[in-house]
Amino acid sequence: MAKVELKGIGKVYDGNVRAVDNANITIEDREFVVFVGPSGCGKSTTLRMVAGLEDITEGELYIDGELMNDVPPKDRNIAMVFQNYALYPHMTVYDNMAFGLKIRKVDKAEIERRVREAARILDIEKLLDRKPKALSGGQRQRVAVGRAIVRNPKVFLFDEPLSNLDAKLRVQMRAEIADLHHRLNATMIYVTHDQVEAMTMGDKIVVMKDGKVQQIGSPLYLYNHPVNKFVAGFIGSPPMNFLTVKIVEKGGQLLADEGTFEVVPTPEQAQALKAYIGKEVYFGIRPEDLTYNKTPAASNNMQMKVSVIEPLGAETNLFLTTKAQSLTARCSPDNKYTIGETVNFTPIMEKSKFFDKDTELNICEQVTSA
Ligand code: ADP
Repeated sequence: MAKVELKGIGKVYDGNVRAVDNANITIEDREFVVFVGPSGCGKSTTLRMVAGLEDITEGELYIDGELMNDVPPKDRNIAMVFQNYALYPHMTVYDNMAFGLKIRKVDKAEIERRVREAARILDIEKLLDRKPKALSGGQRQRVAVGRAIVRNPKVFLFDEPLSNLDAKLRVQMRAEIADLHHRLNATMIYVTHDQVEAMTMGDKIVVMKDGKVQQIGSPLYLYNHPVNKFVAGFIGSPPMNFLTVKIVEKGGQLLADEGTFEVVPTPEQAQALKAYIGKEVYFGIRPEDLTYNKTPAASNNMQMKVSVIEPLGAETNLFLTTKAQSLTARCSPDNKYTIGETVNFTPIMEKSKFFDKDTELNICEQVTSA
């Protein structure tokens, strides 16, 4: 059992660098939680505070209800897997995995049992006598995970563990770690800058920016109900399009005027947008929520020019321009497009978002955030 709670956690490094500000995060027992955000947003610092590798400047950290702020790392019952694996080059795989237990003076037979069990789980039994230099990147990564497993920790922490692997191996290891989570039934916290890793692995995602938690939720909740423009643009690939539009009232109807075309908000959206009449807002629409029309639609028709065509096989990404703005549409490869051609799309308005230009908050939805 291991529940991890961060209450108002903050970190200020020497020289007054604020890395983390008032983080309130609860990681439930056996949950797989991913901290995600761009480089420098404070996710590793947050993880390192949980591990005890950084002092906590503000707030309280609890593991299973016990205050951990001043407990040394070795007594927190946590195991961390790093990006660079940090394996000892002169030791065999067996000794690398056994090392942490030896220095804790665990009984030899028990060490052997745990190392063999971890090796079996990770399918590296045949590699136990090898040195790290005789292993592939993926195998080294497994040994690093094995070293964490033998400790039988309450909580596993992963700090960008896959970023040194090539794209194909990353996909494979991603699945392996997710599978490991199911089999070990352990609490895991995983840090990455890669939103695809976050989406595919996390039960729950914590999106961070500039040291602040932006939103916490399941991958699909964040995808469907982003609290602000940052989360909307960070989760999803290709990212959500943002067009500056002006909210206008014409003949009793509220419209979002892009300059090249107008779209009609849903009645619920229109209600919230009333306060913005005469003002500019961001209209957010995902590339997959634009429907191609062979001929212009009677309403909500977005007429644009094709500037770049990216055929990916299963789908085609079109880069489109209006008079002054650009966006991406994810389309069926069955339609034929040519560069410079004028095309028509209709946005699925129910899935579209509007964001305040100053606060960048989601205007039309009450969403759960941090
Ligand atoms: P991330 O893991 O999201 O890339 P970090 O947690 O590593 O971000 O860093 C957050 C911020 O804290 C960054 O601005 C970084 O430069 C700063 N930082 C990290 N470590 C230190 C340190 N030891 N001393 C001073 N500033 C640091």
